[in-house]
Amino acid sequence: MQILILDSTVFLENASDGLPEGARVTVFEVAEEMKSGKAAIEFDKIQKMGLEIIEPKEEFIVAAKKLQERTEDRVSQTDIRIIALALQFKSRGKEVAVVSDDYAVQNLCKKEKIGFIPLSKKGITRELNWQGHCKACNAPMPGNACDVCGSTNKKYVPHQPSR
Ligand SMILES: [Zn+2]
Repeated sequence: MQILILDSTVFLENASDGLPEGARVTVFEVAEEMKSGKAAIEFDKIQKMGLEIIEPKEEFIVAAKKLQERTEDRVSQTDIRIIALALQFKSRGKEVAVVSDDYAVQNLCKKEKIGFIPLSKKGITRELNWQGHCKACNAPMPGNACDVCGSTNKKYVPHQPSR
């Protein structure tokens, strides 16, 4: 059976009805984030249908962090654990898909050949690279300060290499 690893977007967007067949799992951090608000109702609903909360093993968390450092995808600590759990299942030869609307999460999955299922938005079709840009003037900013205006405020934008 396919294993679906749910990130917080599933609960925030009340998207459980549209999901394919499969065991539903998530990480402790997502469960914590979903304790309040509208998402709590959806979380409760999925939990009643059988949602397993699993903590990834340390070695897979380390592997996910290394991957993130390499690609510079902007992901949260919770996302790191989602990716780590996917790596863990994949290492056991399980069929696994991460359910997420987050482009950075999808991108990490793509790079590691982990399946992913986008929800409302169209998922990425190609790997993205993240490029630093100046927050003030939008100029490309590879370093820590803008060559154009001197600002040190940096933002990362997805960049799809054209072919
Ligand atoms: Zn600038």
